[in-house]
Amino acid sequence: MTLDTNLTRETVYIDGTWTGSDSGQTIEVNNPATGDIIGTIPNCGRGETARAIEAASLAFPAWKAKTAEQRGDLMHKLCDEIMANLDGLAQLLTLEMGKPLAEAKGEISLGVKYIRFFAEEAKRVYGDVIPSPWPDRRILVTKEPVGVVGAITPWNFPNSMIARKLGAALAAGCPMVIKPSEFTPYSALAFGVMAEKAGLPKGVVNILTGDAAAIGAEMCENPVLRKITFTGSTRVGKLLAENAGKHMKKISMELGGNAPFIVFDDADLDKAVEGAIASKFRNSGQTCVCANRIYVQDGVYDAFADKLKAAVEAQLKPGSGFDQGTTQGPLINEAALGKVEAHVADALEKGGSLKTGGKRIDVPGTFFAPTVVTNATSDMKVAREETFGPLAALFRFKDEDEAIARANDTEYGLACYFYTQDLGRSFRVMEKLEYGLVGVNEGVITTEVAPFGGVKDSGLGNEGSKYGLDDYLNIKYSCFGGL
Ligand code: ADP
Repeated sequence: MTLDTNLTRETVYIDGTWTGSDSGQTIEVNNPATGDIIGTIPNCGRGETARAIEAASLAFPAWKAKTAEQRGDLMHKLCDEIMANLDGLAQLLTLEMGKPLAEAKGEISLGVKYIRFFAEEAKRVYGDVIPSPWPDRRILVTKEPVGVVGAITPWNFPNSMIARKLGAALAAGCPMVIKPSEFTPYSALAFGVMAEKAGLPKGVVNILTGDAAAIGAEMCENPVLRKITFTGSTRVGKLLAENAGKHMKKISMELGGNAPFIVFDDADLDKAVEGAIASKFRNSGQTCVCANRIYVQDGVYDAFADKLKAAVEAQLKPGSGFDQGTTQGPLINEAALGKVEAHVADALEKGGSLKTGGKRIDVPGTFFAPTVVTNATSDMKVAREETFGPLAALFRFKDEDEAIARANDTEYGLACYFYTQDLGRSFRVMEKLEYGLVGVNEGVITTEVAPFGGVKDSGLGNEGSKYGLDDYLNIKYSCFGGL
């Protein structure tokens, strides 16, 4: 499988033009399922980023001046192009990222749903007329696009992490400069090809690859860029937030998680196992909302552990994303695999018992066997850090208060899940969990119509839904006097 140049490029997209880096340097991109090099991308730095920001700022007035419907029409055309090329784009995504082809298609289709949702939502950027305390004055509140937006995105959802940012930005009237992960740049560059086909004005969408620190620094420090939206690690998010704060820029941050998944004695165990498989092992455990700590109440602990082990062994099939029946692609790289190995070794050293899996798979790519470890305890690495891989660690608890306290005992606050059939408990626990996203008897809850965002060290702001558009808008208060 090679790169389809009808769908992507090995150059970057600035001001409607495809170009290399100023230095001529490139970065190699590999296929995590085989280790093969699939192509190169330009190694851009601050200069190219500044030019992309300039191009976006020149495109801003005309983009902002379009009606919501006109912007929406172009966004729908972009979606039509993406859907017309769904198979090829999914192959590209699987090639560079490794996830099963069906999941790649699902991701791209969800990305399109985000863009279409925002294309419609643009028509509902309402203002306010506030009753005036003065007889001769009137108070008007309007909303305006924040201006040029910089987006920095990760590798685990190479398409949809961009789509949900780009959809909101374009709808609000903001041009965008996008820097994808160097591990999965081709799905991002494909947005440039699709934007061209759809007829988006030049400069409205710019995509560049290269030196992450240099590009990030230019985005933070260039006064023309007004907002940074980032999805990735808490470490990098804090760096960007600090630098953006110095320059008084708006930020949206979707950062790491350490999601608890709680199974109470009164849960429907089969549903809980189904949810745990979906939440823990989706994308081989590489999502920021993946269950990381599975807390199971005493009375059902052993039964749940047995059912989970059986389900893992029966349902999960590691392999190439291109092979029929594969559910578990490779991890993104050696470093990711090393982290899972370290978490498993640490858990076993500290008294955990291995129920299934536990080792890398002896093939050329970076594959790790889906793993279940019981007797997990709070002193283990898996209790404190996001594994970001296929390790299900089962912790035991006694009562509701203990489960809530342990679930909240983390600096993170993105997603959490719990299973119970007791209505009162479901409300009590939902209200006490300090998280931005709560799955009650559900393991996968992402949709474009609902807000997605974390609290505490998991970030700031929301993506998706009507709330997601607010992050790209400034509020303007106008007072009309002398009436
Ligand atoms: P992950 O661990 O998921 O790869 P990262 O936070 O390292 O998370 O990466 C997410 C995105 O942030 C990627 O596009 C990466 O290139 C970018 N990135 C990494 N370091 C920096 C930095 N210092 N400044 C700006 N962006 C960065």
